[in-house]
Amino acid sequence: MIPTEPVGSLPRPAKLQAAFADYDAGKISLAELVAEQDAACLDSIKRMEATGSPINSDGEQRASSFATYPLTDTLAGTGLAENLAGDGQYFAIFTDGHHRQLPRLTGGPFRYKTYAADYLEKAVPQASKPLKQAVIAPSMLALLYPLDGEVPGYTREQFLSDLVDECEKDIRKCFAAGAKRVSIDFTEGRLACRNDPNNPWTGRGMLEGFIDLNNRVLDRFTAEERKDIGIHTCPGGDCDSTHSADVDYAELLPSMFKMNAGYFLIQLASEPDKEKVYKMLGEHSREDANGVKQVCFIGVINPQNPRVETAEEVRDDLLLAAKYIPVDRLGSTDDCGFSPFSIDVKPKHGSPDVARDIAFQKIESRIKGTAMASEQLFAKAAAQ
Ligand SMILES: [Zn+2]
Repeated sequence: MIPTEPVGSLPRPAKLQAAFADYDAGKISLAELVAEQDAACLDSIKRMEATGSPINSDGEQRASSFATYPLTDTLAGTGLAENLAGDGQYFAIFTDGHHRQLPRLTGGPFRYKTYAADYLEKAVPQASKPLKQAVIAPSMLALLYPLDGEVPGYTREQFLSDLVDECEKDIRKCFAAGAKRVSIDFTEGRLACRNDPNNPWTGRGMLEGFIDLNNRVLDRFTAEERKDIGIHTCPGGDCDSTHSADVDYAELLPSMFKMNAGYFLIQLASEPDKEKVYKMLGEHSREDANGVKQVCFIGVINPQNPRVETAEEVRDDLLLAAKYIPVDRLGSTDDCGFSPFSIDVKPKHGSPDVARDIAFQKIESRIKGTAMASEQLFAKAAAQ
């Protein structure tokens, strides 16, 4: 069978988004917010399982965002971790003009306040099928350190050393809590090639440094462990908008596959020329990445677009990709999480609740279409 896996997030129900806002405004208690998160996670897991999906997530309903969950309880900044201030650099400026900002490191040591496994531990008893967990890449959190200059009493190298330790711990705790797979969100990879004068860090040739930093974490795991550690790449996905879709994959992919991960979740459904990218995946992904083969999960679902892909479209994408990528290294995924940030009104969908319903339909198409492609590809292999 061709493996299939979601990236991680689902749109938070309007009711949960309102609860986050009420908590930020001091109108409800933490216990009341947590009750809404519990309900949204349970609903996410049950509805994802109902699509037939073999591996699921809690929809990241508790997380402030895919990038900030270790650092703050809410995206508005309530419950910020120690040694951080709210006024860090923009990590991304999106095509619709909105931006997302990271906190700024003010001192050492750097420690996570929340690990992804803290959420996973609550999800495991709610699930009847295997769960995956997404974590944030060290290369994203490296942007917490000011681009220039030094944090008083805490050198960049001291920070990076602490960061690598924390990222390793984040992943190990997920497996200990029962995650079948752990994928590392690496949306900043493609953005690092953008060279946007409005967003200074993107013009500094930071991609190779990101790759080296992420490998410092990956290299702490055995080949057997890295089979189940993935990397997710995308051009961003927030408020139905992207941040780096105009960057040619040719700038990213040769570097990206230098990371010694066992699998990659790759945005592709929304690419204008998919076949060109499939070909590049076949050329640059490695049969042996320090002891592990690199499986390419191609994006077959576009979470930014409310139109539901058909199972036949999913099947056809996989059949075309199989011309360029060995079948034993091919999988399917969604282009991105369906809502990586906890505040997301989903303007093209009409509302987060509509977007949520659509997300489950899209996942179901991915599962069905992947099964159809599997049948054809493996029947062909058996006949040969
Ligand atoms: Zn993404």
